[in-house]
Amino acid sequence: MAHTADVIIIGGGVHGASLAFHLAQRGLKPLVLERKFVAAGATGRSSGLVRMHYDLRLECELVWKSFEYFRNWEDMVGGTCGFVRTGFIRIVQPQYEDALRANVAMQQELGIPTLLITADDVKRLAPYFEVGDFTYAAYEPESGYADPPTTAASLMDAARRMGATLKTGVQVTEILTDDSKVRGVRTADGTTYHAPLVVNAAGAWADRIASMVGLDLPFTTWSHDVMFIRRPKALGPTHPTVIDDIHEMYFRPEQGRLTLVGLESGNPLGEDPDTDTEHPHPGFVERAVDHICRRIPMMEEGSLHSAHRGYDGLSDDQRAIIGPAGPEGFWLNCGHSGTGFKIAPATGLSLAEWMVDGEPHTVDIRPFALSRFAEGRPLRAEHPYADIWR
Ligand SMILES: Cc1cc2nc3c(=O)[nH]c(=O)nc-3n(C[C@H](O)[C@H](O)[C@H](O)COP(=O)(O)OP(=O)(O)OC[C@H]3O[C@@H](n4cnc5c(N)ncnc54)[C@H](O)[C@@H]3O)c2cc1C
Repeated sequence: MAHTADVIIIGGGVHGASLAFHLAQRGLKPLVLERKFVAAGATGRSSGLVRMHYDLRLECELVWKSFEYFRNWEDMVGGTCGFVRTGFIRIVQPQYEDALRANVAMQQELGIPTLLITADDVKRLAPYFEVGDFTYAAYEPESGYADPPTTAASLMDAARRMGATLKTGVQVTEILTDDSKVRGVRTADGTTYHAPLVVNAAGAWADRIASMVGLDLPFTTWSHDVMFIRRPKALGPTHPTVIDDIHEMYFRPEQGRLTLVGLESGNPLGEDPDTDTEHPHPGFVERAVDHICRRIPMMEEGSLHSAHRGYDGLSDDQRAIIGPAGPEGFWLNCGHSGTGFKIAPATGLSLAEWMVDGEPHTVDIRPFALSRFAEGRPLRAEHPYADIWR
């Protein structure tokens, strides 16, 4: 039996699911091939932060448009994404406070609800934070976090209701081409699936898929550990979500009086993404405890709940790689560089527009094209901070 689809999407993470949703909404019949199960990769390990503070305007545009989905999920997608509003605080090193000010102004121009607040204001929002090492922070009262596996499953369910097909336990091993045009894919069990368009949304495995059509991505794998602490009761029922560059970490509340902590430093590059993700790297928990206790000394009375690791694809400029590349009909949606969850709704929408209409209308994502690297135009912010992952 011939298996055909309008578009084949390789990877059932949040980006594969979002693209399937938006293509199906436009009347196409996409087929998602996932080698394990939905959200088996980075999406299933993601910390799920949904905040709008980026230093690159384009990413702010994507996350601001995506936020409309997170806030109105039931109406716009159906089901739930598990969004929880916590408020979000962005702390940068003192030498970046001018950049912080400029970035807040740029985000306000886009309509993003954000403002500059003082360290005293932070103390009022979170009385148990140490605030002596910075003067200003950015504050987003509407931001928070969502549940990434639920988000991906919800997008995929909605896509299927509109005619998309999902096949799990199916590993793509070959891209079929003919006269420099994509014809479909072959999978590990020898089955062939035909489509004129194939999208590489394979997360940390995207370089392996790209190499099937002779593309060498400026890309490595990024490994990231996360821990959950049981908060001491004295800290109260919740706290804001925070990215804290001074202590090289981010943290957010999780249900059940837990706090999730991830570190910006010490994230090994180039590891095999098929490595065990049940356990963090040795030494991570000790470092993360040390960092969180510097911002919230009372956390010393907390206890470890659990920890895990995950893998994403990291591009050379730490920004996504999106757009057509290689043989005609082959598209990339990968290299999300450890921050791709929160932009998935608008990225899928803009990419679906690009693929179907010939250009993206919602957010012009064309600057994310692979060609930027060869052309010496990596994406750089006007008021940059240090690279996120050091
Ligand atoms: C620990 C961690 C914390 C993070 N925290 C945040 C955060 O707080 N906020 C945020 O915005 N982002 C965060 N990120 C980043 C974000 O989660 C990722 O950028 C995003 O989930 C990537 O989604 P994806 O669909 O591109 O990839 P993935 O979710 O990795 O999906 C790719 C899928 O492709 C499948 N696949 C691979 N090869 C094949 C093949 N040959 N055939 C078929 N299927 C294949 C895999 O099984 C996988 O399911 C985090 C990432 C990690 C790892």
